[in-house]
Amino acid sequence: RASIEVTGLRKRFGRTVALDGMSFTVRPGRVTGFVGPNGAGKSTTMRVILGLDAADAGAALVGGRPYRSLRDPLRHVGALLDAAALQPSRTARNHLLWLARSQGLGTRRVDAVIEQVGLGSAARRRTGGFSMGMRQRLGIAAALLGDPPVLMLDEPVNGLDPEGVVWIRGLLRSLAAEGRAVLVSSHLMSEMQDTADRLVVAGRGRVVADTGVDELIAAA
Ligand code: ADP
Ligand code: ADP
Repeated sequence: RASIEVTGLRKRFGRTVALDGMSFTVRPGRVTGFVGPNGAGKSTTMRVILGLDAADAGAALVGGRPYRSLRDPLRHVGALLDAAALQPSRTARNHLLWLARSQGLGTRRVDAVIEQVGLGSAARRRTGGFSMGMRQRLGIAAALLGDPPVLMLDEPVNGLDPEGVVWIRGLLRSLAAEGRAVLVSSHLMSEMQDTADRLVVAGRGRVVADTGVDELIAAA
């Protein structure tokens, strides 16, 4: 019943070992925090899961299938990656309309996800002048567009103001409460303590701890 299954991923970039046997599962109905220092392999793992990088070995499945074999992938998994490229001259709403059309999702949910991420009237402004926090909100709106059962967010808290941090915590909790599997990365363990149910701790391309948050706090 795991929604994401990562098994023995290995990946090198030249002489750099980015992934060295990365393995974990992400289950529905929970927020799984993916933590570890910069360079631990979190982004590479997410990119491999999404088929954006090819692993040298190992397997990554979403809902039991490789991402590349999914029809209408945005209906299966929504992702926010660090470098979400935005067309600066487009408004946020037009960006979402374009994405919905090009991915065959229909535009019915566009205004709902704009509300869900709190972009409001800013959605009618061009993204060129957007703050990092607004870009993150737009990226999350894009991830939610297909109403997917699996969400994968890479450092979504980056660039958010304190109010945004509280907001995203609530959003992640409610997405998990709806039964979705949520994988969210952060280089700050403290950021995840109040948000995640489980922590997958990465270091040097592999998992060094995989535990419930309560157990981790009890052990500290
Ligand atoms: P225990 O403390 O009894 O060994 P855990 O706290 O490790 O159990 O796991 C509790 C539940 O969470 C188990 O059903 C386990 O299968 C599940 N689980 C394990 N890894 C993950 C994960 N990465 N994401 C979500 N659930 C997980
Ligand atoms: P994290 O997300 O945990 O910060 P990354 O997955 O971004 O870690 O990086 C893991 C390692 O792989 C780092 O040493 C990083 O420099 C390296 N790396 C990641 N992507 C590339 C790339 N495209 N080319 C070369 N090295 C890379």
